[in-house]
Amino acid sequence: MSDEPGVREVVWRQQAADDGHQRPASAAEARLRLERGNAAFAAAGDEDRRRIVTVGPHAFGLPNLPGGDLPQEPFAAVFGCSDARVVPELVFGQALNDLFCVRVAGHAPTASSLASLQFAVRNLPTVRLVVVVGHTGCGAMIAAVDSFLRPAGAADPAAASELRAVLDPLFAPVTAAAQALADVYGPAVTGAQDYRPALVDTAIVAHAALTAMMLQRAVARPMAWGVYDLATRRVGVPGAPGRQPRFSDPPADDRALAGLLRTAAAELPRSTAVELKRSTAVQPTGSGDATRP
Ligand SMILES: [Zn+2]
Repeated sequence: MSDEPGVREVVWRQQAADDGHQRPASAAEARLRLERGNAAFAAAGDEDRRRIVTVGPHAFGLPNLPGGDLPQEPFAAVFGCSDARVVPELVFGQALNDLFCVRVAGHAPTASSLASLQFAVRNLPTVRLVVVVGHTGCGAMIAAVDSFLRPAGAADPAAASELRAVLDPLFAPVTAAAQALADVYGPAVTGAQDYRPALVDTAIVAHAALTAMMLQRAVARPMAWGVYDLATRRVGVPGAPGRQPRFSDPPADDRALAGLLRTAAAELPRSTAVELKRSTAVQPTGSGDATRP
């Protein structure tokens, strides 16, 4: 290991063939492996300067049998954003052939992304689990929120036709997030200085949870979801105890989703929540511009 100050190492260490890389045998094992991998990745930025990822020969593209092709055997499918900061194999501490990744800007469950996930679960029996991974600071969601707040204006990102396919599916979670913020802080919240970042943060949670809820009906595998926090490098859900890396089950129904979003709205970063409370406290409920989306 390097002793140079500031140097961190991520090592892929191949085990002997006999005790090599065991694939998770269940969805619960797969989920735990992703959560533990993310915990180690997040810790690598703190005191732990060396992260060892134990892998089998497959991690280097080597087949099980000499001369044969390497069979595709991922243990989980990941549906996430194309954002370069949220690379699934890195943030979950996994290697080549571990994850079947479907990534598209804004991770909207469009026909092609849904078909890709269905291909994985129908043709790859090693896939035990499907996870939806949103992330903070998502540029697609920021554009959708800006379009929602300033519809059809000159600066409306949705006015660019090439972005419509990315942005249109995001308006449902933005609308759900706006409702959750109004429920928690009152209708005057739309006039708060921090309303825009609050709406972005809440909509990101809404989008990941809603996508997992939708996919559960379409994909025949256990499903989980989480939001990757760019600041802490942890995948989780706002309000989770201790903010440990942890996935959540998809909301059971619309009522459960609404409750989840109210919790997310109430658990916004402290400075944002304080500003929203302050703004709404000085304005009697109903005095804000309720017509503003
Ligand atoms: Zn994104």
